[in-house]
Amino acid sequence: MWRLGYPILLIGIEIISTLDLAFMEKIQMVDLGSQYQDIKSDVDQALQKVLNSSAFINGQEVGDFSVQLSKWNQSAHVITCANGTDGLQIALMALDLNPGDEVIVPAFTYIATVEVIALLGLVPVFVDVDPNTFNIDVNQIESKVSERTKVIVPVHLYGQCADMDAINAIANQNKLFVIEDLAQAIGSRYKDKKAGNNGHIGVTSFFPSKNLGCFGDGGAIFTNDDELAGKIKMIANHGQSKKYYHDIVGVNSRLDTLQAAILNVKLKKLNRYIEARQRAASYYDQHLVDVSSVVVPQRMKDTTHVFHQYTLKIPGRRDELKSYLQNNGIPSMIYYPLIIPDQQAYNHYTSESFQISKSLSETVLSLPMHTHLKEETISYICGKIKEFFHG
Ligand SMILES: *Cc1c(COP(=O)(O)O)cnc(C)c1O
Repeated sequence: MWRLGYPILLIGIEIISTLDLAFMEKIQMVDLGSQYQDIKSDVDQALQKVLNSSAFINGQEVGDFSVQLSKWNQSAHVITCANGTDGLQIALMALDLNPGDEVIVPAFTYIATVEVIALLGLVPVFVDVDPNTFNIDVNQIESKVSERTKVIVPVHLYGQCADMDAINAIANQNKLFVIEDLAQAIGSRYKDKKAGNNGHIGVTSFFPSKNLGCFGDGGAIFTNDDELAGKIKMIANHGQSKKYYHDIVGVNSRLDTLQAAILNVKLKKLNRYIEARQRAASYYDQHLVDVSSVVVPQRMKDTTHVFHQYTLKIPGRRDELKSYLQNNGIPSMIYYPLIIPDQQAYNHYTSESFQISKSLSETVLSLPMHTHLKEETISYICGKIKEFFHG
């Protein structure tokens, strides 16, 4: 009996604890349910088509999606793969690097960026980030370039491009490759180019909560270099040039047809999804304008922000605020609480300290951000932030 009673009780508690929301709706970090309801008939139809065809691997939808995404992103080549982490690994594998070669990365990023470097026997060389953009501090890159440096991997954190002109200038001067990690920034522009076209290779993720997400795992690799494209395609497919002939060591990394079918539907909406996020970000800005205890995300002039995250800096009482919001039915997240050079698995690569990254890990707080966030919800969230600081 308790099996039935327990969830009912839980629902009861939830309703009571959010009673002071005028609207009876649970606030979520990411609301994938509402988004699905909007596109349900198109998605269901697309999935049914795949089910009827039984072409679960490399079905028509996968090829269609690559073509549509390459048009949308104005990239000559799109190679789909199983997830963003695989995409980063495959991109590095395509560059003919040797064990011990160095790859420059920001200290403040998601683990995937660095994990693949270590897995391939390469050496991550960390660079601190800029406190305003959260992206790699381009003024600190050059001093980290050595004889063994081969690649720079800028991460467009939270949805805004790193300073690509400065990065490319250093890369050109030192003959380095540039791989953009645009897992959080699909659709962001740097000057007149979309993310993914500003280096030799770009990699994105279709993890469900990403700005273009599928209903499971997925990823894609962008390049405008024909030769690299051929190599990447081979590596993602067991290193084979034709079936059962393996010229180089590869991996098995595929976007499956069901996910491609969903992505075909969602790609058509991506411009509107990005606008919805940007609108939500402006509402947050407006509602927080007189809260001096928080710093809203800064927009840089050479890049557009697609707001994968809306991330505040809260120089004092961040964790207290997080609990306060939680108690008022408002989720928030810390991306990321421990910087990569301080992680147990990676701290042997350096003994340096990364002051800005470290201070950001102690001050950042990401608020709910998704395509179906209403202004009244944002107003409620900001009201609680004001209440916390000003009573
Ligand atoms: C999500 C993410 C990835 C990896 O994506 P997966 O598809 O989950 O493997 C890589 N880098 C960054 C910055 C990310 O946010």
